[in-house]
Amino acid sequence: MVLENYNCVLCHLDTEESLHHLFLHCPFAMSCWNVLGLAHLIQGDILDTISLFKTQIQRPIFMEIIVAMFWAIWSTRNDVIFFFFGNEMMSFSEISSNQ
Ligand SMILES: [Zn+2]
Repeated sequence: MVLENYNCVLCHLDTEESLHHLFLHCPFAMSCWNVLGLAHLIQGDILDTISLFKTQIQRPIFMEIIVAMFWAIWSTRNDVIFFFFGNEMMSFSEISSNQ
């Protein structure tokens, strides 16, 4: 699949999608991490951020929680690209209301 551009599809910042943007710095990702009370811990480096998340969560299943959130962000991104791209760009709240 060739896209018109490779900007993040989860926000309107006209920022090219990168690992750090998609999973940490995108407003959508930030709102997801905020649900877990972790958004304020996000750093520039993903490994530093995961380390801070571990410290904050303080549960043996911390990695499962983090992976589940990464998966949720990734799945949402793929839903937007594969199911909604080509139509008028939808905000996350519009996507959520359609499911
Ligand atoms: Zn974004």
